[in-house]
Amino acid sequence: MNSESTTAPEKREKKRFKLSDLKGFKQMAPYLRPHRAGFTLGIFLISVSSILTLFVTRLWGQLGGVGIMGGEKSSVGNEFEGGILDGLDLNNLETIGWTIATVLLIQATMSFFRVYLFANMTEKMMLTLRRDAFEAVVSMPMDFYHNRRVGDLNSRISADITSIQDTFTLTLAELIRQSIMLVGGIAALAYFSVDLTLMMLVTLPVVVLVAIVFGKFIKRLSKETQDEIAASNVIVQEVLTGIVNVKAFANEWFERSRYTTSISSVKDLAMKGAIGRGSFASFIILFIFGAITLVIFKGAALMQSGDLASEHFFTFLLMTGLVAGSVGGLANLFGVVQKGLGAVESLMELLNEEREIKGLDSEIPTLNLRQPLRFENVNFHYKTRKDLTILNNLSLEIRAGEQVALVGPSGAGKSTIASLMLRFETPIDGAILINGKDVATMDLRGYRKRIAYVPQEVILFGDDIRTNIAYGKLDATDEEIRDAAKRAYALEFIENFPDGFATLVGERGIQLSGGQRQRIAIARAILRDPDILILDEATSALDSVSEKEVQAALEELMKDRSTLIIAHRLSTIKNAHRIVVLVEGEVAESGTHAELISNKGPYFRQIQSQDFV
Ligand code: ADP
Repeated sequence: MNSESTTAPEKREKKRFKLSDLKGFKQMAPYLRPHRAGFTLGIFLISVSSILTLFVTRLWGQLGGVGIMGGEKSSVGNEFEGGILDGLDLNNLETIGWTIATVLLIQATMSFFRVYLFANMTEKMMLTLRRDAFEAVVSMPMDFYHNRRVGDLNSRISADITSIQDTFTLTLAELIRQSIMLVGGIAALAYFSVDLTLMMLVTLPVVVLVAIVFGKFIKRLSKETQDEIAASNVIVQEVLTGIVNVKAFANEWFERSRYTTSISSVKDLAMKGAIGRGSFASFIILFIFGAITLVIFKGAALMQSGDLASEHFFTFLLMTGLVAGSVGGLANLFGVVQKGLGAVESLMELLNEEREIKGLDSEIPTLNLRQPLRFENVNFHYKTRKDLTILNNLSLEIRAGEQVALVGPSGAGKSTIASLMLRFETPIDGAILINGKDVATMDLRGYRKRIAYVPQEVILFGDDIRTNIAYGKLDATDEEIRDAAKRAYALEFIENFPDGFATLVGERGIQLSGGQRQRIAIARAILRDPDILILDEATSALDSVSEKEVQAALEELMKDRSTLIIAHRLSTIKNAHRIVVLVEGEVAESGTHAELISNKGPYFRQIQSQDFV
């Protein structure tokens, strides 16, 4: 992906809903499939529960009519209704009361199981989805991470997953419930009185929808006002921070006019908002209350003329409330579903992206890389900067067990060579060969398993020292870890901590010094026992005791391993078997320290300018 994807969330919110967005649900199919029985049951439960709500509403209406009818059967009877309410004495208050109580109890039980069921399935789905998203995030090639802010990616994924979770735990159920209420409610209303229903339908839902749109408009206005207030605060802050400049240039009047412009637009926006809110209040009173009055009035007229039974009229009023609620509910749900679909789409985009590691569960083959390694005519540029050639037809050999120090000015391409060796990047042209075989053809994880990399800035995990060392070999025994620490000259300082290997490092624990961190990283590499070693030497100076210990630890680590050192210390460089001098992506010269000094080439000049620590 490119930089566009980092702005995707903002884009998504502005996007209009398209029917093709629904294909997001199709992509969720593999995650839904294991739970289809549960979902079907859940949907069944919620449907029954919604129908029961309509039923209870009908009984409430009946309660409203009983007193008025004074024990007489309703005047506008019907076979259909007789079917549903068969066997119930609708004029008996007690019967109605008990029926309502029973239905509520059934509904309460069903709702509990429905909520539990949906949560149970969704949480399981989320577990798989989170795991898959994590796997995708760690399996991408290195330039994936270069192209985006990692924090942004993390928050985007968690926001997407939360949004999907909401969709499946709450929204889906609500959508079904509200739709049943709407359709069932309208059908029931029409049954009581077609005239009244038609009248209700052309007024209430329309007014409710207009009210929602209106509400959104007001909300947007108030957000704009907030933004403008924030902008005017920025001016104050800027002026106070740069007060020396403001005073020195006698620009107080200018700043005042800048501030005045900003607060004037705050006032204008706020007034626009006030007019909106005022109109909204008038609108509600006039139209919503007006529509309700109209419906009630019409109902009363129908009742008076004997065309509508009083219990039906009560039911009608209650159900109208339900229907109006559903219209509002559905309008809001639509927005949530849209957001959920957007989230599904962006997550699927991540899951479908090309990875460097396919399937973390496959077996990792054991390779032997204790062989000569060769860069053969390698050309390289980064994907993001195609015009900038970093390595230019570079050839370089590291014999098995040889220690090669790579030196050269900053920006010459030393770290890039390390990235290519780690296969974080791939040559554009040419190849890296081990014993004549192109490394690109070797299993990536098997290859990396035989390499250890000690970076310039060692970043330890916030766990204890033991875990940090064991990262080099996850199944290492305590004995092996202790031995590695000893060989890395780290045992002494570790054992001086009261908690020894259990000492927490990082935020919550003891802060380690640079030299100590490096020795832990070296112990980690020793424990890994790699064939190839890549060292990016720290540029910052250590005190002389740490320096000696780190040096000794490095020598222990490099013994008999093919090593590439991006070297910054003269002592390391002098000790290397061979020095390769890199200038502008090409090997300028190579040889031992003595040879290169007598060459009087770039290396000699670099030594003279005291570039090394
Ligand atoms: P050195 O390690 O010798 O200082 P590098 O290999 O780090 O040099 O960098 C060589 C060149 O590649 C520099 O010009 C640098 O700006 C560029 N570069 C390094 N990493 C990237 C990247 N991820 N994307 C684009 N350009 C990069």
